[in-house]
Amino acid sequence: MSSVLVTGGAGFIGSNLCERLLACEYEVISLDNFNTVYSPSIKRQNIIKAESNPHYLSIEGDILDTGLLTELFNSFAIDTVVHLAALAGVRRSISNPLEYVDVDIKGTVNVLELSVRNKVKKFIFASSSSVYGKGPRPFSEQHTADLQLSPYAASKASGESFCKTYNALYGIPIICLRFFTVYGPRQRPEMAIHKFTRLINDSRHIEIFGDGLSSRDYTYIDDITDGIISAINFDCNFEIFNLGSSNPVSLNRLTDIIGKSLGKPVYRRYMPYNPGDARHTLADILKAGTLLGYNPKTGICEGIMKFAEWYLRYV
Ligand code: NAD
Repeated sequence: MSSVLVTGGAGFIGSNLCERLLACEYEVISLDNFNTVYSPSIKRQNIIKAESNPHYLSIEGDILDTGLLTELFNSFAIDTVVHLAALAGVRRSISNPLEYVDVDIKGTVNVLELSVRNKVKKFIFASSSSVYGKGPRPFSEQHTADLQLSPYAASKASGESFCKTYNALYGIPIICLRFFTVYGPRQRPEMAIHKFTRLINDSRHIEIFGDGLSSRDYTYIDDITDGIISAINFDCNFEIFNLGSSNPVSLNRLTDIIGKSLGKPVYRRYMPYNPGDARHTLADILKAGTLLGYNPKTGICEGIMKFAEWYLRYV
């Protein structure tokens, strides 16, 4: 059985990924510090299903703790590292930039170091569409922005840069995956779809930053976990892939779809744009389609319906 270490394995993407990996018969170790950016009890709930599987192990710990990582790598033969642990979110990074430098840059380098020393066969880095900034659309892998719009985006660009350096120095095979606004069950409570669902369901006003015409390439979680698993199995030296849906949706349309799926009216309040937010995102997924066989299957109406069902049942 091939073994995968998932850092950030109790988070939104991580916990969904661990379940998919277990279903595909991988041996899975999750490392997560259950930080308080949002409730740790949500993350403990996220892993309950995986914990019933004998091929899953959850370790509570920090990616900055070199001693713990050394012990972990000494105790288990790890074939692949999927490095998801990070502080996510653009707006918070503007008020807490140094935390992002610590976790998203230093933490990434720490996990890279240990992966090289322990001869990991593949390192997958969770990057983000935010590295494209205001670049030309559709965003394609060779056009990373010169100007990063937030400390979060800068930390992801820096993480990619370290990945490239470690690959060149030590030959460790690395894939950077640029995720485009991921949504679905367990989405972080502060992310737009989750927040709008909560407010619309409670018949409260939602705040839209800008005119509502800004758009995002929302990507359903199952398509992202499919893409990660394809990347684990893809033989290469160093590659960057977009994982998006290539189907952008405006904020006005998104909130209409959420309202419809909940059977509730939508009360909008328009606010000034937020600095750091890209106005539009759109993934060019040709490369991922051609090389990874990546083929996102869940459209926005179906995906929002699934999210709303999960929200009404579990939150
Ligand atoms: P999340 O916050 O739900 O998951 C991240 C997990 O990492 C959390 O469980 C957290 O406790 C853990 N973590 C944070 N700091 C840690 C540390 N120092 N040591 C150990 N664990 C730590 O976020 P998510 O939405 O699941 O994002 C996962 C990854 O994907 C992140 O790297 C994020 O930047 C990236 N990403 C996410 C999206 C998205 O739309 N969700 C888009 C682009 C990129």
